[in-house]
Amino acid sequence: MAANEKVKLLDKEFEIFITSEKIDCAVAEVAQKMNENLKNEDVIFIGVLNGSFLFAADLYRKLEFDSQISFVKVASYMGTSSTGNVKRLIGLNEDVRNKTVIILEDIIDSGKTIEDLVKQIKGYEPKSIQIASFLFKPDAYLGTLPIDYVGIEIPNDFIVGYGLDYNGLGRNLPHIYKIVE
Ligand code: 5GP
Ligand code: MG
Repeated sequence: MAANEKVKLLDKEFEIFITSEKIDCAVAEVAQKMNENLKNEDVIFIGVLNGSFLFAADLYRKLEFDSQISFVKVASYMGTSSTGNVKRLIGLNEDVRNKTVIILEDIIDSGKTIEDLVKQIKGYEPKSIQIASFLFKPDAYLGTLPIDYVGIEIPNDFIVGYGLDYNGLGRNLPHIYKIVE
């Protein structure tokens, strides 16, 4: 599908930033690294809803080793700026004990959400925890955890599409758009 140059969601305008072709390539690169690194591990992927559902689905189909996948929910964002109050992890029923947990995130910004998640998942005594985020904002990141797999590094702009929303809208956009300031 040809990319619309601009989209409007509610009161905000967004312009094309990363096309679906580039998204596909970046997902394939992450999958290739995982296929090399994780084939001998007992892996459970944990997707963080809602934003990661498309990345998780696209990535998971490209993985060639046996693994499990499950999803959890947290929420930390209202509108276009971080509220800072990270909520509790909901929905981790699967037994992650002694397994290699790979957290699947749509985007890592300040890193607050991921730090909080890692802390909570550690309580379930996995063998190890690694982090895979489709997008990463290195200039906004305040955390200390290494991000083991990154699809694309982006500057500090607010973006939508490919699972990411603005007040609930825009998740279905196949391309990624950034806000027009
Ligand atoms: P952090 O805790 O790392 O600051 O923020 C992580 C969460 O904030 C992400 O999982 C995502 O839900 C939201 N977020 C951060 N940056 C953006 C962005 O540019 N666009 C959208 N739609 N959500 C974002
Ligand atoms: Mg997220």
